[in-house]
Amino acid sequence: MGNQKSIWVFGDYRNYFQNRVTLQLISKACDLARRIDAEVCAVVIGHVVDEYIMEYTAHGADRILAVDHEILKNYSADTYLAVMENLVRERKPEIILIGATDFGREFAPRLAKRLKTGLSADCVGLDITDEGLLLQIAPSFGGNMLAEIVTPERRPQMATVRPGTFKEIPHNYERGALVERLPLITNLPGQRVRLVEYEKSAERQHTMENSSVIVCGGRGMGNRNNFKKLHELAKLLGGDVGATRPAVYAGWADHSALVGQAGRHIKPKILFSFGISGAIQHTAGVGEAKFIVAVNKNPQAAMMKMADVAIVADAGDVLNTFIKELKKRIRE
Ligand SMILES: Cc1cc2nc3c(=O)[nH]c(=O)nc-3n(C[C@H](O)[C@H](O)[C@H](O)COP(=O)(O)OP(=O)(O)OC[C@H]3O[C@@H](n4cnc5c(N)ncnc54)[C@H](O)[C@@H]3O)c2cc1C
Repeated sequence: MGNQKSIWVFGDYRNYFQNRVTLQLISKACDLARRIDAEVCAVVIGHVVDEYIMEYTAHGADRILAVDHEILKNYSADTYLAVMENLVRERKPEIILIGATDFGREFAPRLAKRLKTGLSADCVGLDITDEGLLLQIAPSFGGNMLAEIVTPERRPQMATVRPGTFKEIPHNYERGALVERLPLITNLPGQRVRLVEYEKSAERQHTMENSSVIVCGGRGMGNRNNFKKLHELAKLLGGDVGATRPAVYAGWADHSALVGQAGRHIKPKILFSFGISGAIQHTAGVGEAKFIVAVNKNPQAAMMKMADVAIVADAGDVLNTFIKELKKRIRE
């Protein structure tokens, strides 16, 4: 790489076909790279990764750094971090971008800590300052404000970015990239965690950012059985189910369904909100919904004020009626 500046995008391909965040980041990296005269490099760690190398090349990467080894077949924080840290220390990229997926949210802060550099988490925008620094735009104070952050001294400049923030460049399979296949480092740390089993969640939560219909439930659903009805409604509407923190903490929904500041940022065409008060930490994740229907016993709830249609009623009752009506119409 010589003295050429490099913007790295970490290849998070585990939910690849559903979650396009790596491709979105490569696309943004291309835009940033033009402005600081850098190359875009995708880093692919794993086993049997040629498919991803091809995709990242087709979507705009100039260079691919691939570490392909059987030991890396399943993600382990210790091994992946050791491989990545080693690469960064050797190659010294200017910028590293990582998707703010469950994986990225675990991986990126640990990497930043090891490299003793800053990290802006969950960015919703990236730019280049007049000084050529990465401008990292991230929500702060419960999503009430957008902070503009730069890392003037430490390198690399690191950010995680929410899926759906940027658009991917359409693929072009004619494109070429310089693919460097690198050997596994010899000083890998011992494995502290042994993978016993791997099971993919049956739920479709990973597609939530792209869903046009989302049915979201909160504490007002009252119990697990009522909450389950949200899945029935979502299925009828071809949508996904989201949840507030109390619903997740109560065990009614998986953490991957959490919507809000600490969870997913959704932008459905229509959002149904059942038994949700509308705390700022939740609404921080629903601001881009095009149309909101809220059901709440309390007409003063913030979610009701934010909604396009506010139904003052018991959430369970409305759900039952809605499901019954939809089924009737489907039968007709
Ligand atoms: C640092 C931090 C980060 C956070 N991040 C998130 C986040 O990412 N996402 C998130 O959701 N929360 C987050 N929270 C929690 C957040 O502050 C709220 O506590 C949470 O969003 C409230 O969830 P809720 O609306 O389900 O519950 P509540 O606030 O308890 O509201 C329940 C609502 O249900 C209504 N209700 C009750 N019974 C019925 C009924 N039978 N029918 C209809 N309506 C009924 C009530 O009127 C009420 O409005 C965070 C908090 C902190 C401190």
